[in-house]
Amino acid sequence: MSNEKLLVPTKIVHSKRRSITIIIDRNGDLVVRAPLKCRQTEIDDFIKSKADWIIKKRLSAMNSTFKPLKFKGKEKITILGMTFDIILTDTKRVKAVEGEIYVPQNEPELYLRNYLVRLCKYKIPRRVDKFCEKFGFKYNGITITSATTRWGSCSFNNHLNFSYKSIMCPPDVLDYLVVHELTHTKVKNHSAKFWQKVEEVLPNYKTQEKWLKDNRSLIDVI
Ligand SMILES: [Zn+2]
Repeated sequence: MSNEKLLVPTKIVHSKRRSITIIIDRNGDLVVRAPLKCRQTEIDDFIKSKADWIIKKRLSAMNSTFKPLKFKGKEKITILGMTFDIILTDTKRVKAVEGEIYVPQNEPELYLRNYLVRLCKYKIPRRVDKFCEKFGFKYNGITITSATTRWGSCSFNNHLNFSYKSIMCPPDVLDYLVVHELTHTKVKNHSAKFWQKVEEVLPNYKTQEKWLKDNRSLIDVI
């Protein structure tokens, strides 16, 4: 796609709002939100003023690994490193059995994502507390987020956030994500000191880091 084309909005939504805003979503689509009476020339000028940023963002989103599940035909999903065949059913809840996961055919994506969030809420605090007990970390709370581009974060007051996607990683990688954020309770940046502390807890953390880099396409499906 030429740079000119990248500046053409995929969708313009007019609504009761005060200013123009642009969003580049995970598919690389450019969505413009504008006030009701906003003229096309105003939108064009706004886009022009952000051209470099838009082109950069759209290109990087298009090159990302995100390939959403279509919930048609034979598809798979990985949870805690295990692979499940997705089977659509007319029930109202998600159920995972050996090698298969049953997902309501009515809004499968929503049900599956909620299922991942619930699994996170169950599993992640237990992993966090395990490392706290063993290594003396302290934190203020845990939130499971809908973040799609970052695995987790740690706030200034040591509240931990984890993306619902974390639960799709193998257990050792999930542990790395947990230890990474817990280490931020002690060191807020990614300095040498930070990595040294991560290594004290997980001597092989580089293997898990590499897994995250190499296997993004397994996770970027929902
Ligand atoms: Zn970090």
